[in-house]
Amino acid sequence: MENLPGIVVTGASGRMGQMLVKTITASGKARLVGCVERAGNPWLGRDVGEAMGGAALGVTVTDDPLPAFARAQAVIDFTAPAATVEFAALAAQARAVHVVGTTGLEPAHHARLDAAARHAVIIQAGNMSLGVNLLARMTQKVAAALDADWDIEVIEAHHRMKVDAPSGTALMLGQAAAEGRGVALEAAKVSGRDGITGARERGSIGFSAVRGGDIVGEHDVLFAGEGERIILRHVATDRTIFARGALRAALWGQGQKPGRYDMMDVLGL
Ligand code: NAP
Repeated sequence: MENLPGIVVTGASGRMGQMLVKTITASGKARLVGCVERAGNPWLGRDVGEAMGGAALGVTVTDDPLPAFARAQAVIDFTAPAATVEFAALAAQARAVHVVGTTGLEPAHHARLDAAARHAVIIQAGNMSLGVNLLARMTQKVAAALDADWDIEVIEAHHRMKVDAPSGTALMLGQAAAEGRGVALEAAKVSGRDGITGARERGSIGFSAVRGGDIVGEHDVLFAGEGERIILRHVATDRTIFARGALRAALWGQGQKPGRYDMMDVLGL
């Protein structure tokens, strides 16, 4: 057990944080060595297992990330962009693999991840599940096979608490479609139509978001042609798929060269 890689979970009281704590402790492949939350969080100073309503796990939730990261081989981070870029610098300082599940990252955040990745391994993906990464590959291939007579639309649905749109996964699928078609997503992207939008622009890639209830995550990539449609669909019913993917990434990252990686690298797709 002592030889297993030690992992710190940031945002441990969050939906994904709790799922990660459960997944890591049940895995037999890694040890949970730290849990981080921000100042003011009610879980600070408590044993994370007890805070989750179960047995003690011997890990006290802290708001001081660096000492925790220094004890770890990997940090798994599903928090918020502003927190993630700070954690990236600290994880690089501690030479720990940083697995980033946080979505809503803007170019400025990516630039800071790039800087940290000069010294450490960063694995970042808008979706850590095997199924969605396969879907992205399929999307790329279908988009490459079809011309712009086929309109591409990415339609996603998530729970009512989600704060960003389109989802990280939707953007990843849009990016895969754009790559398949040989265009830049920024130039082709049309998001959240409302009002008199005019006719659809040929070659654009559309995004729409549904928000409600406890939907874990659903993504359709629609290829709409004349007289026929192709729909590629992924439905997530349980968040453990993301936690298992993140743990797999943390283990895969051990011994890799510093740099930026994604789940395609981890899964060998
Ligand atoms: P959530 O329940 O709101 O959890 C976020 C957690 O991060 C909370 O515990 C929050 O603490 C904590 N946090 C925020 N800022 C922090 C900081 N500065 N320092 C430490 N902790 C901080 O959200 P979630 O549903 O777990 O999702 C978290 C992120 O993961 C989102 O960006 C979501 O889109 C993404 N996600 C990605 C995947 C994937 O496969 N890549 C899958 C699911 C979700 P407070 O409670 O104190 O605010």
